Amino acid sequence: MKIMIVFGTRPEAIKIAPVILALRRMTDFSVQVCFTGQHRDMAMPIMELFGIEPDLKLTITNRSLCDSVAEILQQLDVLFRQENPDLLLVQGDTNSVLAAALAAFYHRIPIGHIEAGLRTFQKFLPYPEEMNRLLTTRLADLHFAPTQQAKENLLHEGVKEENIFVTGNTVIDALHLMLKKIDCASGNGGSLQRFFPFLQPSRKLLLLTGHRRENQGEGLVEICNVLRRIALLRDDVQIVYPVHPSPQVRNTVLPLLQNTANIHLTAPLDYLHFIQLLHQSYCVLTDSGGVQEEAAALGKPIILLRETTERPEIAQMTRVITTGTDGSRIWNAVLQLLDTPVQTEICYNPALGKGDAAEHIVHAIMECFRSEDE
Ligand code: UDP
Repeated sequence: MKIMIVFGTRPEAIKIAPVILALRRMTDFSVQVCFTGQHRDMAMPIMELFGIEPDLKLTITNRSLCDSVAEILQQLDVLFRQENPDLLLVQGDTNSVLAAALAAFYHRIPIGHIEAGLRTFQKFLPYPEEMNRLLTTRLADLHFAPTQQAKENLLHEGVKEENIFVTGNTVIDALHLMLKKIDCASGNGGSLQRFFPFLQPSRKLLLLTGHRRENQGEGLVEICNVLRRIALLRDDVQIVYPVHPSPQVRNTVLPLLQNTANIHLTAPLDYLHFIQLLHQSYCVLTDSGGVQEEAAALGKPIILLRETTERPEIAQMTRVITTGTDGSRIWNAVLQLLDTPVQTEICYNPALGKGDAAEHIVHAIMECFRSEDE
């Protein structure tokens, strides 16, 4: 059985790598990995970290959302004709996912969708991801829902129960692989210090990520302004912000936060170092989906820089304060967390799975194709 996996961005690379590794351990499958190039610089180092070399690469220009979908569609049209896989696997909610699913549908190739069923029920939150995920559900045949709630959402939309598999979220698999590497690396604390020499062990580390389209512009300005005020007010904190390479993000963040005491702006970090930093952090401020999941699994409190979430399970795992981009809500949330002792222990609540989601997905695929053969 020939399975093609198409991915394009950093979060997809992180969440699909455990599935690729699990599929490659099985002899039943021939696996082809295709990289669309959507996040060319951020996604490839992750694949290297997991020891995966894509078999196929598309070349897209990424000029606009429409361009990237059109280019992926056209190039996969050729590739699917040549390769004719028995199953396409995609993960998540990006343009690469939607375009690949649509191309597979036109070629009548069955589609498996990993991390299916997450919903905010708001068309533009997050944008374009909510709609990408919803449309991919319509196109997909096998739905790998990370949680029971995601399954309920799919059932509610009329997806047949026999096509939904609750597997856990593969981000937990990826996180466990990173934690093993961190444990194995001799002198873990030392290596963090070597990589981030500016960190001061006596200060509380606030880790910030923010780049969502719907937060760009005014929202991001407000986030930067309030964090600048906090960094200047509190000499017991240090803020680390790996800045997304998107020009809309960099052009806002750099002028507002560069050269601010207690704020360290970095390039996007490689995944292992990001998880190390998250592990050492006091709390996380983020508008990212994956970072919320990883922070929750590590028991870190989250200040959620979004108004709504498609991941309600996270509030069962850790403390979440939802602030959106409102400066005074962020200010209050940060001061509240700083002034109340925070317990940061690894969370054993399996709301997002136990780190074996990839195995569940592979098992479900085998079962489906076996029952088809019978
Ligand atoms: N991440 C990383 N380096 C960074 C920032 C984030 O490796 O400097 C990882 C993070 O651990 C998480 C993923 O990137 O797994 C989140 O990506 P993003 O926020 O772009 O997407 P989302 O999860 O919101 O779809």
